[in-house]
Amino acid sequence: MTTAKKTGRTFLFRIPPKADLCEALEKFLARKKIRLGTVSAIGALSQATIGYYDQEKRKYFKKTIKGELEIVACIGNVSLKDGKPFPHLHAALSDTKMRLLGGHLFPGSTVFVAEVQVQEIKGKPYARRLDSATGLPLWPIR
Ligand code: ZN
Repeated sequence: MTTAKKTGRTFLFRIPPKADLCEALEKFLARKKIRLGTVSAIGALSQATIGYYDQEKRKYFKKTIKGELEIVACIGNVSLKDGKPFPHLHAALSDTKMRLLGGHLFPGSTVFVAEVQVQEIKGKPYARRLDSATGLPLWPIR
C-alpha cells in the first residue's frame, strides 16, 4: 500500500448542469472501470450537501445549502466501497459574499458547472472496510 504507484489514464471532462456531482462521478468511474485514483474539480454548484463526521456520535452531520456556490476546490480519491468504485470527495465552496465553507461532499450537490479531472492509479485497488476505531469505512493501514 505504501509502495509507489504508477498512474494510468487521465480524464478531463465536464459534468452537465443539473447533474448530481457525486452520483455523476460515481457513474463515470463505474463506466470507465476506475477502481483506484484521485479526483479534482472546480466550477460552481446551485446546491451543496456538505458535512463533517462527529467523532463522538460516530455519524455525519450534514447540511444542504441552496444558492450560488463556487467550487473553490474539490479533491478526492477513488477506491472500492462494497465492491464498487466510490469517490470520496471534500469541497471548499464560497458563497455570494465570498465566504468559504466546506466539508465532506455528499450526494445532493447539484452542478451548475463542473470541470473535473480524474487520475487513474494502476495496481490493486484499495477496498474500504468498516474501521472499529473510527466507525468509518476506511482503507486498511499497512
Ligand atoms: Zn470525507
